This record gives sequence, structure tokens and C-alpha cells, in this order.
Amino acid sequence: MRRNTSSRTKLMLAGLLAAAALLFGSLAYGGLGETLQVTYLDVGQGDSIWLHAADGTDVLIDGGPVAAGPTVVAYLQDQGLDDIEVLVLTHGDADHVGGLIAVLQSAIPVEQVFYNGLDHTTATYAAFQAELQHRGLTPVPAQAGQTYIWGPLDAAVLNPQVPGTGDQNEDSVVLAVTYGAVRWLFTGDIGSATEQTILLSDTLRAGATADVLKVAHHGSRYSSTTPFLDAVGAELAVICVGADNTYGHPAEETLARLRAAGARILRTDQNNTVVVRTDGQTFQVQADYLLFLPLALNRWVSSAQTGDVHIADIFRDGAIDPQEPDEYVEIYNADPRPIQLDGWTLRDEANHVFTFPNYVMPPDQVCRIYTNQDHPEWCGFSYGNGWAIWNNDGDCAYLHDSTGTLVDAYCY
Ligand SMILES: [Zn+2]
Repeated sequence: MRRNTSSRTKLMLAGLLAAAALLFGSLAYGGLGETLQVTYLDVGQGDSIWLHAADGTDVLIDGGPVAAGPTVVAYLQDQGLDDIEVLVLTHGDADHVGGLIAVLQSAIPVEQVFYNGLDHTTATYAAFQAELQHRGLTPVPAQAGQTYIWGPLDAAVLNPQVPGTGDQNEDSVVLAVTYGAVRWLFTGDIGSATEQTILLSDTLRAGATADVLKVAHHGSRYSSTTPFLDAVGAELAVICVGADNTYGHPAEETLARLRAAGARILRTDQNNTVVVRTDGQTFQVQADYLLFLPLALNRWVSSAQTGDVHIADIFRDGAIDPQEPDEYVEIYNADPRPIQLDGWTLRDEANHVFTFPNYVMPPDQVCRIYTNQDHPEWCGFSYGNGWAIWNNDGDCAYLHDSTGTLVDAYCY
């Protein structure tokens, strides 16, 4: 519990900043600085994942099946992609390599190509090789233990091992990517055997911990074993899978294991293209893409939702200031990031609960939760209570985030 330490002067200054933030809200939001956006493209049955860092570093992992190629190219170009610094083919199966043929046939420059070192015998793979040759690109075999720095991204290769298994799926390139404090794991189509191999190596096992997991092999029942999921410890799991595929992907038991491991699940067959954005501290999924999810997920998903928001003041007696006939609690966002307040609560000792609506609080913003009146200039939060809430002879205010975690308490 924390006592009030803020002075009125500081709050007035914060109020001015808040007014500026309201006027330039979108600028304040967009001006946060560096971000990484990871897009799991809806390519039907297959994988295609695009990592775009704010400095212009682009990594494309797989291209989906041949039929998805033009869609992938159009999507990337629509999004303003100018070049691909790193192209990764996890393995040579058609649902991963097919769409890369169109990417290589497009005008998008490609600087570097990694693959699993295992050539495939299919005509689709041969077409991919021909396009590489046409561009003068020589693919680099990825191997466990390699590390790379791609712009602001730290990448570590966890698979294939040396020597490999000779199986396309099991020899998929597994990539751990770190951006700030947020970690991502891309697993291609590995099965339980490779998961086991990774778990048996202390280094690889440690490298596999991630906040966001691309679920292996489209959610196959033969991947995503419980020990592997526990080692990864992902908060969010994305399954790249086509609707009505003939493989039974994703398997019910895999979904159950993911849920048991505490992961929130997104699927390209249900959520379409999934975009996860991070500032290096938290990650967020755009609500637009969550329309078909249960209500609990129908908001921004964040790995550190609470940030540094605190209760700055409680104005408890309207009678002492004729200019302010209503009571209010003032909260202040001291965090450099905008904080989503959706589902947060404010309560007093007598348990009068205000539940915050969908509202993103910019940095330096002051908001007031009025007892009775509506004040849009102070974020518009009001109990609409009709009578006093905050006792004049002492009370406590408790601010909880949407998970029920206590963010701040303020007593007088
Ligand atoms: Zn596949």
C-alpha cells in the first residue's frame, strides 16, 4: 500500500501534458519508438510469417503453398515492404516452400536465404531452387547453435541438429527471436522427436523459452508435447492452419495441451491473418483480429498490462471547493507506454466498483473517475453513482488490472 506522494503542482503539470496527449493522442501513440510486428499470414494450410521491425528489417519465414504465393506477395507489397533482409525456409514441404516461388518471382529484393540444408525431391522445391539460382542466391544451411543479429532482432537457431535426421519435418529450422524483452519461437513442422532433442540440451532448452509460440506442424497431435510446451512457457500460441484440412489439424489433444500449458490460442483458420506487435516490453494483438474469440480475449492482449499507472489523488469533498462539486479519484500513467485499461477496476473500502471501459491511456495522461458527473476532458470515467462514495474521515482506493492483480492502493 502506498501513500500519496504527488503534489498539486505536479498534477497540474501532468494535466497540461494530458491535454496535449488528448490533442495529439495518435501521435503520442505512434511516437512510442521502436516496434516489431509479427504477422502470421492466413495462407490456408501452410505457414507464412513476416517479421517487420520499425528500422525496416524484414524477415519472411516460409511462404505457404503455391496457391498462396500471389496473396503473400500482394499482402507484403500492400504493407509497404521494400525488401526482405532474411528469407527463411523452415523445410522443403510444399505448404512452406510453395509461396516462396512467387516471392522470388516478384520485384521484392531478397538479400539472404536460410534453409534446413535438406533438399527436397519435389517439383515445387525444384521450382524454388530454380528461382534462387535465377536471382543468384545461395541458401545458407541453418544449424543448431548458430546466432545472428538481424537489425534489432537477435536470432538463435535451435534446429536442425548436426547431423540432421533426414526427415523434412523433424529437420525444420527452429528459430528463437528476441526483440527487447519479448521472445518468439518459430518451430516449422517439428515433431515430438525434435522437441525431445531440444529439451535434452540445456542450451537449446533455455533458448526455446518464448512469450509467443508458433505452434509446430499446424497443431499436429504428434507435436507440442507437454514437456516442450512447459519449457517454452508461451503466453500466446499461434497456429497456422487451413480450415477443413484433411490432416485433422489442429488436433483436439494439442489444443488441450496448449490450454493446459496456459497459452492463449490464435488460429489462422479462425482469426485469419494474426498480427502481434511489441515494443520490446509487452506484446499486443489487434482487437480487430479477435472478433471470433471468447469474450475474455476480445481486447488487447498484453504481457505486461499494468505498466506504471497509479492513483495520484482522491478529491473527496465537493463542499470545500465550489468549482468542484463532485468527488473524483485521479489516476496517472507514469509509464512510457500507453496502457489499455479495459476491464480494470477501481473500488473503495465499501466495495463500490467502477469497471473501466476499452480505453488506452497514453503516457503522462491523467484521468479522473468521478463519482457522479461526466467529464469527457478527464477521460469521461464516472460511477454515475448519485451519492458520495469517498468517506471524508478516511477511505482506501484499490486499482486492479483486468486479471485482478492489484496495481495500486491509496489510503487517506
Ligand atoms: Zn507444414
